[in-house]
Amino acid sequence: MDFSLDSTQVALKDSLRRYLEKEVAPVVDRYEAQKEPVPRAFVAAMRDFGLIGGLMPEKDGGFGLPTTTYGMLIAEVARVWPSLRSVFAVSNLASFVLAEYGNAALREKYLPRILSGEAIACFALSEPNIGSDAANVQTRAERTANGWRINGRKLYITNGPICDLGIVFVRTPTSDGKHGVSCLVFESSMPGVSCTPIGKMGMHSCPLGELLFDNVEVPEENLLGAPGEAFAIAKQHLNVGRSMAAFSALGIAEAALEAAIRFAKDRVQFGRPIGSFQLVQQMIADMMTMVETARLLSYRSADAIDRQDPENKALCSMAKRYVTDITLRVAELSLQVHGGAGYTTLFPVERYYRDARHLCIAEGTNQIQSMLVAQTALGLSALR
Ligand SMILES: Cc1cc2nc3c(=O)[nH]c(=O)nc-3n(C[C@H](O)[C@H](O)[C@H](O)COP(=O)(O)OP(=O)(O)OC[C@H]3O[C@@H](n4cnc5c(N)ncnc54)[C@H](O)[C@@H]3O)c2cc1C
Repeated sequence: MDFSLDSTQVALKDSLRRYLEKEVAPVVDRYEAQKEPVPRAFVAAMRDFGLIGGLMPEKDGGFGLPTTTYGMLIAEVARVWPSLRSVFAVSNLASFVLAEYGNAALREKYLPRILSGEAIACFALSEPNIGSDAANVQTRAERTANGWRINGRKLYITNGPICDLGIVFVRTPTSDGKHGVSCLVFESSMPGVSCTPIGKMGMHSCPLGELLFDNVEVPEENLLGAPGEAFAIAKQHLNVGRSMAAFSALGIAEAALEAAIRFAKDRVQFGRPIGSFQLVQQMIADMMTMVETARLLSYRSADAIDRQDPENKALCSMAKRYVTDITLRVAELSLQVHGGAGYTTLFPVERYYRDARHLCIAEGTNQIQSMLVAQTALGLSALR
């Protein structure tokens, strides 16, 4: 199996890295420290590198990139600014669902704005009482003369405080008198939509919030897919989301390793660079090995998606769990190599640790991933 990059991938990666190092890297620490959202100009610039709409087919306005190429680009962005990656990744997810399930008018109205980076979207599924048990949506939408009226709360919504629009999962009555989960497009400017920002441990430039829907009226055409069938929509992109979470963690792990190597060469104690001490070398060797295994599993999961390998479900869950867990260990070792400096905000390592931590929870917790992996071998579900 050959995961070496071809000349097109190398060119794409190099031009993205040049842009990120020159324009983005110099402002990251200031924005994160001040808890300022990533500038919209950076989000829009991601379009030029195939990162917005990257996986979407060209017929829908995307680039139709292979998942491996897209993952490589995601890791590059996360290596410099994980908050930037998260803002456009969630927008991308919403645009995917719009492209696949929206009617022509809806796609025409919203897709060009999201794909140009002008509009930012959110994906509102989690609620105060539903997280891992995501099928149990409680936010309700009832039919009105012209469409739907939404009431409920959505919790931990990435981009909530800055989004222009979003897709929201709601419980709706079905024709047989029962209830199913449906998916509606809303705009943040609609009467009755409000968002309360939520503070968090890291990723300070990627805002998180609680969305309140208080008698929000949306027109009939804002329904995505058939009523009651939205959970299938939500599940459809899970594998790609998990593989991309692995690539995001990989980018952070690479940054943490590079920082440790730089520091170990520069810092002198006992008259020698600390990198010449065997115990420091062991930490560097461990980190290098972890990053390499994380890279292999991330690419293997993306490659399995591209080849439509039936094993891709297990591989994506394995990659999500393993790479996000191992990245925390890499960040922790990098912090240790830095000594006291690593614990301060004068160096970026403590941020790598904080930014990586949420990846073990979002996109399905790592415990849920473990059970999904075991299920593929055992044929027994721990969940239902
Ligand atoms: C930074 C961040 C961004 C997010 N962005 C979004 C977003 O944009 N949109 C959105 O809809 N959601 C978002 N989420 C929510 C995220 O999807 C949920 O936090 C996640 O699914 C877990 O749900 P929960 O927090 O309610 O935890 P819970 O499901 O309550 O789980 C709590 C603990 O119990 C464990 N657990 C739960 N069930 C089981 C089980 N059956 N067996 C074993 N262990 C179990 C979990 O692994 C976890 O350790 C975000 C979360 C974070 C932290």
